[in-house]
Amino acid sequence: MTVNPRDEPSFSTELEHLDAEIRGCVRCANILAEHPANPPSRPEIVVPRPILSTPFSASIMLIGQAPGLTEYDSGLPFQGPAGSGIRGLFAECGVRLDEFDRVVYQTSAAKCFPGRKQNGRHWEDRQPDPKMLQMCSGFLRNQIEIVDPRLVVCLGGVAAKAIDRLRGYPIRVLGDVVGTVEEWGDRYIIFLAHTSPGSRFLNEEKNKRLQARGQRLLEHAVGLLRESGGLIRGQSDRP
Ligand code: SF4
Repeated sequence: MTVNPRDEPSFSTELEHLDAEIRGCVRCANILAEHPANPPSRPEIVVPRPILSTPFSASIMLIGQAPGLTEYDSGLPFQGPAGSGIRGLFAECGVRLDEFDRVVYQTSAAKCFPGRKQNGRHWEDRQPDPKMLQMCSGFLRNQIEIVDPRLVVCLGGVAAKAIDRLRGYPIRVLGDVVGTVEEWGDRYIIFLAHTSPGSRFLNEEKNKRLQARGQRLLEHAVGLLRESGGLIRGQSDRP
């Protein structure tokens, strides 16, 4: 795998426009209105609140499933326990915690928190409804085209399926893709399992090995980008 940086890109007005369009989106209001935020303590219904990085051109794009309750409250991506896990994983692969938000453009297959549901005695984040994913897929496509990352890191089965749909691929199960790298035009996609505490995929030893392989691929790609000076492209001065 060779990951070459693009020529120095300038901050994109196009990306700012897309960012504003996404942040103003309320298409899923009716779907979200059926779901409480966190029923044991927060019975209020969820409202559309798209969560994504502030716009900047990045060599690495991270695509998760959907924001969780912590992200919903903070307005920032990858903040909760799952976010800490993935930030730690990237740190192990060469992206320091203090540079993560400048280096990795963060988004998800569905940009809005889908609410929580009961699973036995526990409460966990709901998966986004298929309709939400469908309505958000155009945004994801546009984000990838405009941010134009060299490397897409796909986190979990929902994100992998969203990427497969965008590429017109048959939908695959998580075990078929975790730990692999694929070319997509002039960029690469690395598939990882979700690091969320609620994810059961990584309970199995064979899946842990797949994840470790994916981490080695990520470490290799980050090393190539850093060596070539392409890890940090540029960033908005917006907060
Ligand atoms: S999930 Fe996507 S399509 Fe739905 S309201 Fe949020 S930004 Fe809009």
